[in-house]
Amino acid sequence: QQKAVIIGAGVAGIATAIRLAVKGYEVEIFEANSYAGGKLSQFEQNGYRFDAGPSLFTMPQYVDELFQLAGRDPRQYFNYQKLNVVCNYFYEDGTRLHAYADTEKFSEEIANKTADSAQAVVKHLANSRDIYEITNHVFLERSLHRLQTYLRWDTIRSIFRLPQIDAMRTMHKANTNAFKDARIVQFFDRYATYNGSNPYHAPATLNVIPHLEHHFGAWFPEGGMYAITQSLVRLAIQLGVKFTYNTAVDEIIIEGEKIRGVRTKEKVVEADVVISNMDVWFTYKKLLADRPNLHPKKTLEQERSSSALIFYWGVKKQFSELDLHNIFFSADYKAEFEHIWQKQSIYHDPTVYLNISSKLKRDDAPTNSENWFVMINVPANSGQEWDKLIAEARTNIQAKLSRLLKEDISKLIENESILDPRSIELKTSSYKGSIYGTSSNNQFAAFLRHANKSSKIKGLYFCGGSVHPGGGIPLCLLSAKIVADLV
Ligand code: FAD
Repeated sequence: QQKAVIIGAGVAGIATAIRLAVKGYEVEIFEANSYAGGKLSQFEQNGYRFDAGPSLFTMPQYVDELFQLAGRDPRQYFNYQKLNVVCNYFYEDGTRLHAYADTEKFSEEIANKTADSAQAVVKHLANSRDIYEITNHVFLERSLHRLQTYLRWDTIRSIFRLPQIDAMRTMHKANTNAFKDARIVQFFDRYATYNGSNPYHAPATLNVIPHLEHHFGAWFPEGGMYAITQSLVRLAIQLGVKFTYNTAVDEIIIEGEKIRGVRTKEKVVEADVVISNMDVWFTYKKLLADRPNLHPKKTLEQERSSSALIFYWGVKKQFSELDLHNIFFSADYKAEFEHIWQKQSIYHDPTVYLNISSKLKRDDAPTNSENWFVMINVPANSGQEWDKLIAEARTNIQAKLSRLLKEDISKLIENESILDPRSIELKTSSYKGSIYGTSSNNQFAAFLRHANKSSKIKGLYFCGGSVHPGGGIPLCLLSAKIVADLV
Protein backbone atom coordinates (compact mmCIF):
# COMPACT_ATOMS: atom_id res chain seq x y z
CA GLN A 1 0.00 0.00 0.00
CA GLN A 2 1.32 3.44 -0.93
CA LYS A 3 1.57 6.03 1.81
CA ALA A 4 0.47 9.65 1.54
CA VAL A 5 1.39 12.28 4.10
CA ILE A 6 -0.65 15.47 4.17
CA ILE A 7 0.70 18.60 5.84
CA GLY A 8 -2.22 20.46 7.44
CA ALA A 9 -5.83 19.57 8.22
CA GLY A 10 -7.42 22.55 6.48
CA VAL A 11 -10.56 21.77 4.46
CA ALA A 12 -8.47 21.00 1.37
CA GLY A 13 -6.12 18.73 3.32
CA ILE A 14 -9.02 16.73 4.74
CA ALA A 15 -10.74 16.50 1.35
CA THR A 16 -7.51 15.32 -0.27
CA ALA A 17 -7.11 12.72 2.49
CA ILE A 18 -10.61 11.38 1.80
CA ARG A 19 -9.99 11.17 -1.92
CA LEU A 20 -6.66 9.37 -1.52
CA ALA A 21 -8.06 6.98 1.12
CA VAL A 22 -10.82 6.09 -1.36
CA LYS A 23 -8.10 5.42 -3.94
CA GLY A 24 -6.51 2.94 -1.54
CA TYR A 25 -3.71 5.01 -0.03
CA GLU A 26 -2.66 4.82 3.60
CA VAL A 27 -3.09 8.46 4.63
CA GLU A 28 -1.70 10.38 7.58
CA ILE A 29 -2.37 14.07 8.24
CA PHE A 30 -0.04 16.12 10.43
CA GLU A 31 -1.68 19.20 11.88
CA ALA A 32 0.19 21.87 13.82
CA ASN A 33 -2.90 22.92 15.79
CA SER A 34 -4.78 20.83 18.34
CA TYR A 35 -7.86 20.85 16.09
CA ALA A 36 -8.81 20.27 12.45
CA GLY A 37 -10.19 22.80 9.99
CA GLY A 38 -7.56 25.55 9.89
CA LYS A 39 -9.51 28.67 8.96
CA LEU A 40 -12.74 26.66 9.03
CA SER A 41 -12.84 26.26 12.80
CA GLN A 42 -14.97 27.42 15.73
CA PHE A 43 -14.67 28.56 19.34
CA GLU A 44 -16.96 29.14 22.30
CA GLN A 45 -16.87 31.94 24.80
CA ASN A 46 -19.23 32.81 27.67
CA GLY A 47 -22.23 31.02 26.22
CA TYR A 48 -21.62 32.16 22.64
CA ARG A 49 -20.39 29.93 19.80
CA PHE A 50 -18.63 31.47 16.81
CA ASP A 51 -17.51 30.07 13.48
CA ALA A 52 -14.02 31.53 13.41
CA GLY A 53 -13.54 32.04 9.66
CA PRO A 54 -15.84 31.28 6.72
CA SER A 55 -19.51 32.10 7.14
CA LEU A 56 -20.91 31.88 3.61
CA PHE A 57 -21.43 28.36 2.28
CA THR A 58 -21.78 27.98 -1.49
CA MET A 59 -21.47 25.00 -3.84
CA PRO A 60 -22.40 22.37 -1.18
CA GLN A 61 -22.33 19.72 -3.93
CA TYR A 62 -18.52 19.66 -3.65
CA VAL A 63 -18.84 18.53 -0.02
CA ASP A 64 -21.55 15.97 -0.84
CA GLU A 65 -19.35 14.58 -3.58
CA LEU A 66 -16.78 13.44 -1.02
CA PHE A 67 -19.32 11.28 0.82
CA GLN A 68 -20.69 9.90 -2.44
CA LEU A 69 -17.20 9.04 -3.59
CA ALA A 70 -16.80 6.96 -0.45
CA GLY A 71 -20.15 5.26 -1.11
CA ARG A 72 -21.88 7.03 1.79
CA ASP A 73 -25.08 9.03 2.03
CA PRO A 74 -24.04 12.64 2.69
CA ARG A 75 -27.27 13.26 4.60
CA GLN A 76 -26.19 10.78 7.25
CA TYR A 77 -23.27 13.08 8.02
CA PHE A 78 -24.14 16.59 7.08
CA ASN A 79 -27.19 18.66 6.25
CA TYR A 80 -27.81 22.21 5.14
CA GLN A 81 -30.65 24.52 4.28
CA LYS A 82 -31.04 26.95 1.41
CA LEU A 83 -31.32 30.65 2.25
CA ASN A 84 -34.31 32.46 0.74
CA VAL A 85 -32.70 35.81 1.44
CA VAL A 86 -29.00 35.54 0.70
CA CYS A 87 -28.06 38.83 2.34
CA ASN A 88 -29.47 42.12 3.65
CA TYR A 89 -27.81 45.30 2.44
CA PHE A 90 -27.81 48.61 4.31
CA TYR A 91 -26.67 51.84 2.66
CA GLU A 92 -25.77 55.08 4.40
CA ASP A 93 -28.58 56.91 2.52
CA GLY A 94 -31.14 54.70 4.28
CA THR A 95 -31.72 52.26 1.39
CA ARG A 96 -32.19 48.64 2.46
CA LEU A 97 -32.10 45.83 -0.07
CA HIS A 98 -32.91 42.16 0.37
CA ALA A 99 -30.95 39.92 -2.00
CA TYR A 100 -33.59 37.25 -2.55
CA ALA A 101 -32.33 33.92 -3.83
CA ASP A 102 -35.17 33.90 -6.33
CA THR A 103 -33.95 35.86 -9.36
CA GLU A 104 -37.36 37.33 -10.20
CA LYS A 105 -37.94 38.59 -6.66
CA PHE A 106 -34.38 39.87 -6.45
CA SER A 107 -34.58 41.80 -9.71
CA GLU A 108 -37.96 43.26 -8.71
CA GLU A 109 -36.47 44.38 -5.39
CA ILE A 110 -33.79 46.26 -7.30
CA ALA A 111 -36.27 47.70 -9.80
CA ASN A 112 -38.54 48.88 -6.95
CA LYS A 113 -35.86 50.50 -4.84
CA THR A 114 -33.22 51.81 -7.26
CA ALA A 115 -32.87 53.46 -10.66
CA ASP A 116 -32.01 50.13 -12.31
CA SER A 117 -34.38 47.79 -14.06
CA ALA A 118 -35.22 44.15 -13.43
CA GLN A 119 -34.02 43.39 -16.99
CA ALA A 120 -30.58 44.87 -16.27
CA VAL A 121 -30.21 42.50 -13.31
CA VAL A 122 -31.43 39.46 -15.24
CA LYS A 123 -29.05 40.31 -18.09
CA HIS A 124 -26.13 40.69 -15.71
CA LEU A 125 -26.83 37.33 -14.07
CA ALA A 126 -27.08 35.68 -17.49
CA ASN A 127 -23.68 37.13 -18.34
CA SER A 128 -22.38 35.79 -15.05
CA ARG A 129 -23.67 32.32 -15.99
CA ASP A 130 -21.96 32.51 -19.39
CA ILE A 131 -18.63 33.33 -17.76
CA TYR A 132 -19.10 30.37 -15.42
CA GLU A 133 -19.80 28.00 -18.28
CA ILE A 134 -16.67 29.06 -20.11
CA THR A 135 -14.29 29.24 -17.16
CA ASN A 136 -15.47 26.34 -15.02
CA HIS A 137 -13.79 23.55 -16.99
CA VAL A 138 -10.64 25.46 -17.81
CA PHE A 139 -9.85 27.52 -14.73
CA LEU A 140 -11.51 25.70 -11.86
CA GLU A 141 -11.93 21.99 -12.27
CA ARG A 142 -8.64 20.98 -13.81
CA SER A 143 -4.95 21.60 -13.60
CA LEU A 144 -3.87 24.56 -15.72
CA HIS A 145 -0.40 23.07 -15.81
CA ARG A 146 -1.02 19.89 -17.72
CA LEU A 147 -1.14 19.50 -21.47
CA GLN A 148 -4.04 17.05 -21.23
CA THR A 149 -6.32 19.84 -19.97
CA TYR A 150 -5.79 21.76 -23.20
CA LEU A 151 -6.44 18.77 -25.42
CA ARG A 152 -9.93 18.18 -24.08
CA TRP A 153 -12.84 19.17 -26.27
CA ASP A 154 -14.59 21.25 -23.59
CA THR A 155 -11.36 23.19 -22.97
CA ILE A 156 -10.88 23.90 -26.67
CA ARG A 157 -14.49 25.07 -26.96
CA SER A 158 -13.98 27.34 -23.94
CA ILE A 159 -10.77 28.75 -25.39
CA PHE A 160 -12.67 29.84 -28.51
CA ARG A 161 -15.14 31.64 -26.26
CA LEU A 162 -12.46 33.33 -24.11
CA PRO A 163 -13.20 36.88 -25.38
CA GLN A 164 -16.60 36.50 -23.70
CA ILE A 165 -15.10 36.20 -20.23
CA ASP A 166 -14.48 39.93 -20.18
CA ALA A 167 -10.89 39.77 -18.91
CA MET A 168 -9.69 42.99 -20.53
CA ARG A 169 -11.64 45.50 -18.45
CA THR A 170 -12.06 45.79 -14.72
CA MET A 171 -15.01 44.49 -12.80
CA HIS A 172 -15.96 48.02 -11.75
CA LYS A 173 -15.88 49.22 -15.35
CA ALA A 174 -18.13 46.38 -16.48
CA ASN A 175 -20.55 46.95 -13.61
CA THR A 176 -20.65 50.70 -14.32
CA ASN A 177 -21.63 49.88 -17.90
CA ALA A 178 -24.26 47.40 -16.81
CA PHE A 179 -25.98 49.55 -14.17
CA LYS A 180 -27.03 53.19 -13.80
CA ASP A 181 -27.41 53.26 -10.04
CA ALA A 182 -24.21 53.63 -8.00
CA ARG A 183 -25.72 51.47 -5.24
CA ILE A 184 -26.11 48.54 -7.61
CA VAL A 185 -22.64 49.00 -9.07
CA GLN A 186 -21.37 48.82 -5.49
CA PHE A 187 -23.53 45.77 -4.82
CA PHE A 188 -21.98 43.83 -7.72
CA ASP A 189 -18.46 45.23 -7.18
CA ARG A 190 -18.47 43.67 -3.71
CA TYR A 191 -18.21 40.18 -5.19
CA ALA A 192 -14.50 40.90 -5.84
CA THR A 193 -14.00 40.66 -2.09
CA TYR A 194 -15.18 37.03 -2.15
CA ASN A 195 -11.64 36.11 -3.07
CA GLY A 196 -9.92 39.06 -1.44
CA SER A 197 -9.53 41.19 -4.56
CA ASN A 198 -10.13 44.80 -5.57
CA PRO A 199 -13.02 45.46 -8.01
CA TYR A 200 -11.23 48.54 -9.37
CA HIS A 201 -8.36 46.34 -10.59
CA ALA A 202 -9.70 42.78 -10.84
CA PRO A 203 -10.82 41.64 -14.30
CA ALA A 204 -14.55 41.59 -15.03
CA THR A 205 -14.21 37.80 -15.25
CA LEU A 206 -14.86 37.85 -11.50
CA ASN A 207 -18.43 38.79 -12.36
CA VAL A 208 -18.78 35.00 -12.45
CA ILE A 209 -19.15 35.00 -8.65
CA PRO A 210 -22.78 36.23 -8.42
CA HIS A 211 -23.75 33.21 -10.50
CA LEU A 212 -22.39 30.87 -7.84
CA GLU A 213 -24.48 32.60 -5.20
CA HIS A 214 -27.66 33.19 -7.19
CA HIS A 215 -27.79 30.06 -9.29
CA PHE A 216 -26.29 27.40 -7.02
CA GLY A 217 -27.53 29.20 -3.91
CA ALA A 218 -26.25 30.19 -0.50
CA TRP A 219 -26.68 27.62 2.25
CA PHE A 220 -26.47 27.24 5.97
CA PRO A 221 -25.06 24.02 7.41
CA GLU A 222 -26.98 22.52 10.30
CA GLY A 223 -24.61 22.91 13.22
CA GLY A 224 -22.94 25.97 11.66
CA MET A 225 -19.98 26.20 9.30
CA TYR A 226 -17.82 24.07 11.53
CA ALA A 227 -20.09 21.13 10.78
CA ILE A 228 -18.37 20.98 7.38
CA THR A 229 -15.03 20.26 9.07
CA GLN A 230 -16.56 17.91 11.65
CA SER A 231 -18.43 15.78 9.13
CA LEU A 232 -15.42 15.51 6.80
CA VAL A 233 -13.13 14.52 9.68
CA ARG A 234 -15.65 11.86 10.71
CA LEU A 235 -15.72 10.42 7.21
CA ALA A 236 -11.93 10.56 6.89
CA ILE A 237 -11.47 8.66 10.16
CA GLN A 238 -13.96 6.02 9.03
CA LEU A 239 -11.91 5.61 5.87
CA GLY A 240 -8.81 4.97 7.98
CA VAL A 241 -7.14 8.38 7.71
CA LYS A 242 -4.87 9.01 10.69
CA PHE A 243 -4.89 12.52 12.19
CA THR A 244 -1.84 13.53 14.24
CA TYR A 245 -2.51 16.87 15.99
CA ASN A 246 -0.14 19.28 17.74
CA THR A 247 2.52 18.14 15.30
CA ALA A 248 3.98 20.56 12.80
CA VAL A 249 5.94 19.24 9.87
CA ASP A 250 9.33 20.97 9.96
CA GLU A 251 10.85 19.72 6.73
CA ILE A 252 9.94 17.99 3.50
CA ILE A 253 12.61 15.39 2.83
CA ILE A 254 13.76 14.93 -0.74
CA GLU A 255 16.19 12.39 -2.11
CA GLY A 256 17.53 13.10 -5.54
CA GLU A 257 14.51 14.45 -7.39
CA LYS A 258 12.00 12.40 -5.44
CA ILE A 259 10.02 12.71 -2.22
CA ARG A 260 11.20 10.62 0.70
CA GLY A 261 8.88 11.88 3.43
CA VAL A 262 8.60 14.56 6.10
CA ARG A 263 10.31 15.40 9.35
CA THR A 264 8.45 16.41 12.50
CA LYS A 265 10.06 17.31 15.82
CA GLU A 266 9.92 13.68 16.85
CA LYS A 267 10.58 11.61 13.79
CA VAL A 268 11.00 11.11 10.08
CA VAL A 269 7.92 9.75 8.36
CA GLU A 270 8.52 8.01 5.05
CA ALA A 271 5.95 8.55 2.29
CA ASP A 272 5.42 7.90 -1.41
CA VAL A 273 3.60 11.17 -1.85
CA VAL A 274 3.52 14.34 0.24
CA ILE A 275 0.74 16.88 -0.16
CA SER A 276 1.20 20.28 1.40
CA ASN A 277 -1.97 22.01 2.54
CA MET A 278 0.25 24.59 4.21
CA ASP A 279 0.36 27.98 2.51
CA VAL A 280 2.68 27.49 -0.46
CA TRP A 281 4.88 30.44 0.56
CA PHE A 282 5.68 28.86 3.93
CA THR A 283 5.94 25.41 2.37
CA TYR A 284 8.95 26.62 0.41
CA LYS A 285 10.36 29.08 2.93
CA LYS A 286 10.12 26.79 5.96
CA LEU A 287 9.82 23.18 4.83
CA LEU A 288 12.13 23.45 1.81
CA ALA A 289 14.33 26.21 3.25
CA ASP A 290 17.54 24.39 2.31
CA ARG A 291 16.53 24.03 -1.33
CA PRO A 292 16.25 27.63 -2.66
CA ASN A 293 16.89 26.31 -6.18
CA LEU A 294 13.43 24.73 -6.04
CA HIS A 295 11.64 27.94 -5.07
CA PRO A 296 9.46 29.35 -7.89
CA LYS A 297 10.38 32.98 -7.23
CA LYS A 298 7.91 34.65 -9.57
CA THR A 299 5.00 32.59 -8.28
CA LEU A 300 5.87 33.27 -4.66
CA GLU A 301 6.10 37.00 -5.32
CA GLN A 302 2.48 37.27 -6.50
CA GLU A 303 0.41 39.88 -4.71
CA ARG A 304 -1.49 38.40 -1.79
CA SER A 305 -5.23 38.68 -1.27
CA SER A 306 -6.56 41.06 1.34
CA SER A 307 -6.94 39.96 4.93
CA ALA A 308 -9.70 40.52 7.49
CA LEU A 309 -10.31 42.11 10.83
CA ILE A 310 -13.02 40.37 12.81
CA PHE A 311 -14.73 41.29 16.04
CA TYR A 312 -16.66 38.43 17.58
CA TRP A 313 -19.22 40.15 19.78
CA GLY A 314 -21.73 38.68 22.16
CA VAL A 315 -24.66 41.12 21.86
CA LYS A 316 -27.37 41.07 24.50
CA LYS A 317 -30.28 41.94 22.24
CA GLN A 318 -32.01 40.49 19.19
CA PHE A 319 -32.47 42.60 16.06
CA SER A 320 -35.45 41.71 13.91
CA GLU A 321 -34.15 43.71 10.90
CA LEU A 322 -31.01 41.57 10.74
CA ASP A 323 -30.62 38.15 9.20
CA LEU A 324 -27.83 35.57 8.85
CA HIS A 325 -25.80 37.71 6.39
CA ASN A 326 -25.85 41.51 6.51
CA ILE A 327 -23.77 44.16 4.77
CA PHE A 328 -23.42 47.79 5.80
CA PHE A 329 -21.87 49.55 2.82
CA SER A 330 -19.25 52.26 2.93
CA ALA A 331 -20.46 55.60 1.52
CA ASP A 332 -17.28 55.76 -0.59
CA TYR A 333 -16.28 52.34 -1.91
CA LYS A 334 -13.43 53.65 -4.07
CA ALA A 335 -11.80 55.36 -1.08
CA GLU A 336 -12.22 52.19 0.95
CA PHE A 337 -10.36 50.08 -1.64
CA GLU A 338 -7.68 52.77 -2.07
CA HIS A 339 -7.02 52.50 1.64
CA ILE A 340 -6.84 48.70 1.56
CA TRP A 341 -4.69 48.37 -1.56
CA GLN A 342 -2.72 51.56 -2.14
CA LYS A 343 -2.42 53.00 1.37
CA GLN A 344 -2.31 49.55 2.99
CA SER A 345 -4.49 50.87 5.77
CA ILE A 346 -8.12 50.90 6.99
CA TYR A 347 -10.64 53.46 5.75
CA HIS A 348 -12.57 55.35 8.43
CA ASP A 349 -15.90 54.24 6.92
CA PRO A 350 -15.37 50.57 6.00
CA THR A 351 -17.98 48.22 4.57
CA VAL A 352 -19.04 46.06 7.49
CA TYR A 353 -20.12 42.45 7.09
CA LEU A 354 -22.22 41.16 9.98
CA ASN A 355 -22.93 37.45 10.25
CA ILE A 356 -25.25 36.11 12.96
CA SER A 357 -25.40 32.31 13.00
CA SER A 358 -27.72 32.35 16.06
CA LYS A 359 -30.45 33.58 13.66
CA LEU A 360 -30.61 30.00 12.35
CA LYS A 361 -28.89 28.09 15.12
CA ARG A 362 -30.52 29.45 18.25
CA ASP A 363 -28.18 27.80 20.74
CA ASP A 364 -25.21 29.75 19.36
CA ALA A 365 -26.14 32.59 21.76
CA PRO A 366 -27.87 32.89 25.15
CA THR A 367 -31.58 33.80 25.33
CA ASN A 368 -32.42 37.22 23.88
CA SER A 369 -28.86 37.60 22.60
CA GLU A 370 -27.01 37.19 19.29
CA ASN A 371 -23.49 36.11 18.29
CA TRP A 372 -22.17 38.84 16.01
CA PHE A 373 -19.30 38.05 13.65
CA VAL A 374 -18.33 41.54 12.47
CA MET A 375 -15.79 41.62 9.68
CA ILE A 376 -14.13 44.24 7.51
CA ASN A 377 -11.64 43.76 4.69
CA VAL A 378 -8.16 44.99 5.56
CA PRO A 379 -4.78 44.79 3.84
CA ALA A 380 -2.53 41.80 4.29
CA ASN A 381 0.04 42.22 7.04
CA SER A 382 3.10 44.26 6.13
CA GLY A 383 3.91 45.44 9.62
CA GLN A 384 1.18 48.09 9.99
CA GLU A 385 0.48 49.52 13.46
CA TRP A 386 -2.35 47.06 13.95
CA ASP A 387 -3.22 47.82 17.55
CA LYS A 388 -3.84 51.45 16.68
CA LEU A 389 -5.73 50.63 13.46
CA ILE A 390 -7.89 48.05 15.26
CA ALA A 391 -8.83 50.48 18.04
CA GLU A 392 -9.86 53.11 15.45
CA ALA A 393 -11.77 50.55 13.37
CA ARG A 394 -13.61 49.31 16.45
CA THR A 395 -14.86 52.83 17.22
CA ASN A 396 -15.80 53.50 13.57
CA ILE A 397 -17.62 50.18 13.14
CA GLN A 398 -19.62 50.65 16.31
CA ALA A 399 -20.56 54.18 15.24
CA LYS A 400 -21.61 52.95 11.78
CA LEU A 401 -23.73 50.06 13.05
CA SER A 402 -25.28 52.28 15.74
CA ARG A 403 -26.11 54.90 13.10
CA LEU A 404 -27.71 52.47 10.66
CA LEU A 405 -29.51 50.35 13.27
CA LYS A 406 -30.51 53.40 15.34
CA GLU A 407 -29.30 51.85 18.57
CA ASP A 408 -26.10 52.32 20.60
CA ILE A 409 -24.34 49.03 19.91
CA SER A 410 -21.42 49.66 22.26
CA LYS A 411 -23.72 49.28 25.27
CA LEU A 412 -24.94 45.86 24.14
CA ILE A 413 -21.59 44.10 23.71
CA GLU A 414 -20.97 41.78 26.65
CA ASN A 415 -18.26 39.61 25.13
CA GLU A 416 -15.45 40.30 22.65
CA SER A 417 -12.74 38.45 20.81
CA ILE A 418 -10.64 39.76 17.89
CA LEU A 419 -8.92 38.17 14.90
CA ASP A 420 -6.57 40.27 12.75
CA PRO A 421 -4.01 39.62 9.98
CA ARG A 422 -1.28 38.85 12.53
CA SER A 423 -3.34 36.24 14.36
CA ILE A 424 -4.60 34.72 11.08
CA GLU A 425 -0.97 34.27 10.01
CA LEU A 426 -0.03 32.83 13.39
CA LYS A 427 -2.95 30.41 13.68
CA THR A 428 -2.94 28.98 10.15
CA SER A 429 0.51 29.83 8.75
CA SER A 430 -1.04 31.97 6.02
CA TYR A 431 1.55 34.29 4.54
CA LYS A 432 0.82 37.88 5.63
CA GLY A 433 -2.51 36.71 7.07
CA SER A 434 -4.06 36.89 3.61
CA ILE A 435 -7.26 34.86 3.67
CA TYR A 436 -7.53 33.72 0.04
CA GLY A 437 -3.91 33.06 -1.00
CA THR A 438 -2.95 35.28 -3.93
CA SER A 439 -5.17 38.11 -5.17
CA SER A 440 -6.97 38.12 -8.52
CA ASN A 441 -6.18 41.74 -9.26
CA ASN A 442 -5.00 41.16 -12.81
CA GLN A 443 -6.05 39.03 -15.77
CA PHE A 444 -3.07 36.68 -15.45
CA ALA A 445 -3.60 35.83 -11.79
CA ALA A 446 -5.20 32.46 -12.56
CA PHE A 447 -2.13 31.39 -14.54
CA LEU A 448 0.36 32.67 -11.99
CA ARG A 449 -1.07 30.77 -9.05
CA HIS A 450 1.11 27.85 -7.95
CA ALA A 451 0.33 24.52 -9.60
CA ASN A 452 -1.06 21.54 -7.66
CA LYS A 453 1.96 19.43 -8.50
CA SER A 454 5.67 20.12 -8.23
CA SER A 455 7.33 20.17 -11.63
CA LYS A 456 10.72 19.45 -10.04
CA ILE A 457 10.10 16.91 -7.27
CA LYS A 458 8.36 13.65 -8.01
CA GLY A 459 5.67 12.89 -5.41
CA LEU A 460 5.19 16.46 -4.12
CA TYR A 461 1.72 18.06 -4.43
CA PHE A 462 -0.07 21.16 -3.17
CA CYS A 463 -3.68 21.82 -2.19
CA GLY A 464 -5.55 24.64 -0.46
CA GLY A 465 -6.35 28.30 -0.86
CA SER A 466 -2.84 29.49 -1.76
CA VAL A 467 -2.55 27.34 -4.91
CA HIS A 468 -4.63 26.63 -8.02
CA PRO A 469 -7.59 27.21 -8.39
CA GLY A 470 -7.64 29.62 -5.41
CA GLY A 471 -9.19 30.47 -2.04
CA GLY A 472 -12.64 29.92 -0.58
CA ILE A 473 -14.10 26.58 0.46
CA PRO A 474 -15.40 25.48 -2.98
CA LEU A 475 -12.10 26.16 -4.72
CA CYS A 476 -10.12 24.52 -1.92
CA LEU A 477 -12.30 21.42 -2.40
CA LEU A 478 -11.58 21.55 -6.13
CA SER A 479 -7.84 21.74 -5.43
CA ALA A 480 -8.21 18.46 -3.52
CA LYS A 481 -9.97 16.92 -6.50
CA ILE A 482 -7.26 18.06 -8.91
CA VAL A 483 -4.51 16.76 -6.61
CA ALA A 484 -6.19 13.36 -6.26
CA ASP A 485 -6.54 13.16 -10.06
CA LEU A 486 -2.88 14.06 -10.52
CA VAL A 487 -1.69 11.58 -7.91
P1 FAD B 1 -6.25 26.42 5.95
O1 FAD B 1 -7.58 26.63 6.53
O2 FAD B 1 -5.40 27.59 5.65
O3 FAD B 1 -5.48 25.42 6.91
C1 FAD B 1 -4.15 25.05 6.74
C2 FAD B 1 -3.82 24.13 7.90
O4 FAD B 1 -2.47 23.72 7.79
C3 FAD B 1 -3.96 24.82 9.26
O5 FAD B 1 -4.76 24.03 10.09
C4 FAD B 1 -2.53 24.90 9.76
O6 FAD B 1 -2.43 24.80 11.17
C5 FAD B 1 -1.91 23.71 9.09
N1 FAD B 1 -0.46 23.81 8.94
C6 FAD B 1 0.23 24.85 8.43
N2 FAD B 1 1.54 24.59 8.45
C7 FAD B 1 1.69 23.36 8.97
C8 FAD B 1 2.82 22.52 9.23
N3 FAD B 1 4.06 22.90 8.96
N4 FAD B 1 2.59 21.30 9.77
C9 FAD B 1 1.34 20.89 10.07
N5 FAD B 1 0.24 21.64 9.84
C10 FAD B 1 0.42 22.86 9.30
N6 FAD B 1 -14.35 30.91 2.31
C11 FAD B 1 -15.62 30.69 1.92
O7 FAD B 1 -15.87 29.79 1.10
N7 FAD B 1 -16.66 31.42 2.42
C12 FAD B 1 -16.46 32.41 3.35
O8 FAD B 1 -17.41 33.05 3.82
C13 FAD B 1 -15.13 32.68 3.77
N8 FAD B 1 -14.88 33.63 4.70
C14 FAD B 1 -13.65 33.68 5.29
C15 FAD B 1 -13.46 34.51 6.40
C16 FAD B 1 -12.27 34.50 7.08
C17 FAD B 1 -12.09 35.39 8.29
C18 FAD B 1 -11.22 33.66 6.65
C19 FAD B 1 -9.92 33.61 7.42
C20 FAD B 1 -11.38 32.88 5.52
C21 FAD B 1 -12.59 32.88 4.83
N9 FAD B 1 -12.82 32.05 3.72
C22 FAD B 1 -14.08 31.87 3.24
C23 FAD B 1 -11.71 31.34 3.07
C24 FAD B 1 -11.61 29.90 3.54
O9 FAD B 1 -11.67 29.85 4.93
C25 FAD B 1 -10.29 29.32 3.09
O10 FAD B 1 -10.09 29.50 1.70
C26 FAD B 1 -10.18 27.83 3.39
O11 FAD B 1 -10.76 27.48 4.62
C27 FAD B 1 -8.70 27.50 3.38
O12 FAD B 1 -8.53 26.13 3.54
P2 FAD B 1 -7.14 25.46 3.29
O13 FAD B 1 -7.42 24.03 3.04
O14 FAD B 1 -6.35 26.20 2.30
O15 FAD B 1 -6.35 25.49 4.69
